[in-house]
Amino acid sequence: MKLYEFQGKSLFREAGIPVPRGARVTAGDRSGIFAPSVVKAQVLSGGRGKAGGVILADTAKEASEAADSILSMELKGEPVKALLVEEKINIKAEYYLAVTFDGEAGTPLFMASASGGMDIEAVTEKEPEKILKLPVDPLWGLTDYKIRAMADFLGLEDKRGFADLARRIWRLFREKDAVLVEINPLVLTDSGLVALDSKIEIDDGARPRLKALFNEKLAEQASITGASAEEDSGTITYVPLEGDVGLISDGAGTGMLTLDLIRDMGGEAADFCEMGGLTSPEVMYSAMDQVFSDKPHIKSLLVVLIGGFNRMDEMAEGITAYVKEHKISIALVVRLCGTMEEEGKAIMKEAGLPVYDDLLAAVADAVRFAGEGR
Ligand code: GDP
Ligand code: MN
Repeated sequence: MKLYEFQGKSLFREAGIPVPRGARVTAGDRSGIFAPSVVKAQVLSGGRGKAGGVILADTAKEASEAADSILSMELKGEPVKALLVEEKINIKAEYYLAVTFDGEAGTPLFMASASGGMDIEAVTEKEPEKILKLPVDPLWGLTDYKIRAMADFLGLEDKRGFADLARRIWRLFREKDAVLVEINPLVLTDSGLVALDSKIEIDDGARPRLKALFNEKLAEQASITGASAEEDSGTITYVPLEGDVGLISDGAGTGMLTLDLIRDMGGEAADFCEMGGLTSPEVMYSAMDQVFSDKPHIKSLLVVLIGGFNRMDEMAEGITAYVKEHKISIALVVRLCGTMEEEGKAIMKEAGLPVYDDLLAAVADAVRFAGEGR
């Protein structure tokens, strides 16, 4: 998930990283416009400054005109639907500071440069020696000597101020499961360092752990683009079929394989229902609800789960919650393995529900129970 500048800056503010005061403005709500100010397009792509998406305004009239002009722009194919209007900052120097991952080395990587501003891409290409790259051992964390090395490289006098900022960025990067936190430019002002821009990308795999963050930021983005927020339970794919063996899987591949196995063993699936790779107890519950409400006459239900990203304890919670709340008179055949397998099995056992280890045995029983129930 990529964040807009104003969203990244609100994370900066929470993390104690100084940012300019500002207000969000849309075509429908221009009450935040003030002057003197900097009017900035809110789009997910970079390079707004060069494309005219950042305008300095001295008077209210100029700010309003800048807002009109930017709101009618399209930047790299993305129509501008929101602005950030910020107080103007007196810049003494512009730096570049970022944390990302070095895929080859397999470690987080700090990058710092005294040539911050709009041309950092050119610096990377033509003068790579002007960018300091420091891998960070995730176990040691961001050590003092690396912070000092960056401060020296940038030629900063206020080493303590920089150290405080670098540690806050590092903590934010880790706590929010970021794959990129970039400040370009990080500027020196009379009152210290200020993050003038923000580019943050959060690992989509962190969504189950950071549910509240994802829900908040995605809803905010949807309210800007006018699209509806993508729901967390929107991952279920359901296709009704003709048979009487209900089927739920936590991935399309597993589901298709199991469809074949059911037929090989003489049965006929009642549906194809898969939950995608990232699930939760709620998704598991909804999948069962989906199958039973569409096919109340199935003769057995086969649930095939392989824990990778998703956790078997959460799947078991979803299944047992559903069984507790509904009278289920047919055989439930659950085969689960992988992440948090033991915990999942314990939850099933406590609810008095059998669990299968062997996929073929599970399919065979589901087919047999369906036959007996006919
Ligand atoms: P980007 O081009 O999309 O990366 O947008 P930035 O937010 O980085 O802004 C581009 C440039 O506008 C910065 O490098 C600054 O030089 C300039 N700028 C942005 N805000 C201010 C400000 O408050 N005061 C001044 N003097 N310049 C600013
Ligand atoms: Mn920038």
